[in-house]
Amino acid sequence: MKTIWDNVTLKEFPRLDSNLSADVLVIGGGICGILCAHMLAQTGKKVILVEKDRLSQQRTHKTTAVATSLQDLYYSDIEKHFGLKVAQQFYEINQLAIEEYQKLSNHYDFDYQEVSTFKYFSDKQKYLNEQNTLKKINCEFKAHDTWNNSQFSAIEFPHQCQFHPLMLIQNLIEGLEIYEHTPIIKLNNGIAYTPKNKIYARHIIVCTGYPFLRFRGLFFTKLTQSKSYVMAIETSKKYPSAIGENSSDLYFRNYHELLLLGGNDQKTGHPSDGYAPLEKYLKENNLPTPSCQWINQDTCSADGLPYIGKYGHFQNVYVATGFNLWGMTGSMISALIIKDDIFNKSNQYAKLFSPKRKTPLLKLLQNIKTATLNLLKFKKRCTHLGCALYFNDKEQCYECPCHGSKYDLNGKVIYNPGEHDKK
Ligand SMILES: Cc1cc2nc3c(=O)[nH]c(=O)nc-3n(C[C@H](O)[C@H](O)[C@H](O)COP(=O)(O)OP(=O)(O)OC[C@H]3O[C@@H](n4cnc5c(N)ncnc54)[C@H](O)[C@@H]3O)c2cc1C
Repeated sequence: MKTIWDNVTLKEFPRLDSNLSADVLVIGGGICGILCAHMLAQTGKKVILVEKDRLSQQRTHKTTAVATSLQDLYYSDIEKHFGLKVAQQFYEINQLAIEEYQKLSNHYDFDYQEVSTFKYFSDKQKYLNEQNTLKKINCEFKAHDTWNNSQFSAIEFPHQCQFHPLMLIQNLIEGLEIYEHTPIIKLNNGIAYTPKNKIYARHIIVCTGYPFLRFRGLFFTKLTQSKSYVMAIETSKKYPSAIGENSSDLYFRNYHELLLLGGNDQKTGHPSDGYAPLEKYLKENNLPTPSCQWINQDTCSADGLPYIGKYGHFQNVYVATGFNLWGMTGSMISALIIKDDIFNKSNQYAKLFSPKRKTPLLKLLQNIKTATLNLLKFKKRCTHLGCALYFNDKEQCYECPCHGSKYDLNGKVIYNPGEHDKK
């Protein structure tokens, strides 16, 4: 699927055709895997990255690449469910991630822009509650009771950033040892298996979007996927980088002369009116037909925080997933935390993201209910855990309502955790 980032073509890497060994093996060549590999290679570790297809052609290829601490998750909700300290830590580590992007921008040219990001509200109470928590955690923000000549109020976070994700990746892969078309199909402590070869590694990091082993870490009980629709529209008008108070609201950012308009986020595998709300916005605002449009999806955790840390009961295997459509900061946070763990350095934020934390009971029950109902249906089945697939006639694809695998009409996996193409 075409996106505006296709003006960069990443160089190609060979397929692995022998056994290898390394200090660190990174599995998955999206932004998360590449940041982990880059950061660890800089410490002098021997790092190998393997990617089952081509680098960064999945979630990362279709992102909008805004790195901000102002996300869909409310700080007031984090305070309510986890306490003020967690809200403060979530803010701090996201800010650290943005500083890391800023440092990268000093070294590399990747269309990096420092911007303010905004969250716009029609619900006054939500707007006030959020400010309340933000003040308590000493967050740097501005509140706009009226915003942008609209009926909305907004919260602004200054000094955030947005960039061209593939231009960044093009820089970071220079000098890394990478193998493409090299899927990992099995893991043991210290050994990863491709269909023909073995890779021996002291540490293994799984950055495959949805973790690729079926049962390890019980991710099938706590990880779903949500999709979102994006259009690129030529306009000379400058838009602020903004999201709405609900995760399904429209979001905006500029890239040169283009407006990236996105929204209508919803769980993969369920009926959707697709681009309709975006098309309505174009019509109401006299904007031209988009020069390109695309759909993307991401893994979503049960409690809104990513899962970063040890993978199941493996000893030296890590996982980074559940970015809830905020994987620019999520991936950078993963690289920082996992690097520290590999160097036995304690990281005060690691506990926050531990994959072993408790899953909220209600979410767990909802996920189990969806899976049970779908296992009972007589339909084409997902190659992950056998849920009945939903045929999305608008997008002409099959989607799994349980864990979000997506297949094209020929049965080819577009998004994992579907494990192999359907016949
Ligand atoms: C429409 C949309 C807009 C978004 N915009 C933003 C944004 O503005 N800011 C933000 O912070 N986040 C955003 N996100 C989220 C962000 O794009 C993702 O969180 C991020 O790209 C995830 O990167 P990743 O490396 O984890 O996954 P991926 O990019 O999917 O990479 C995983 C890689 O692993 C490979 N792989 C899978 N299985 C195996 C295997 N067994 N062996 C080897 N390789 C394997 C895959 O082929 C893939 O290349 C957005 C998401 C959507 C849906």
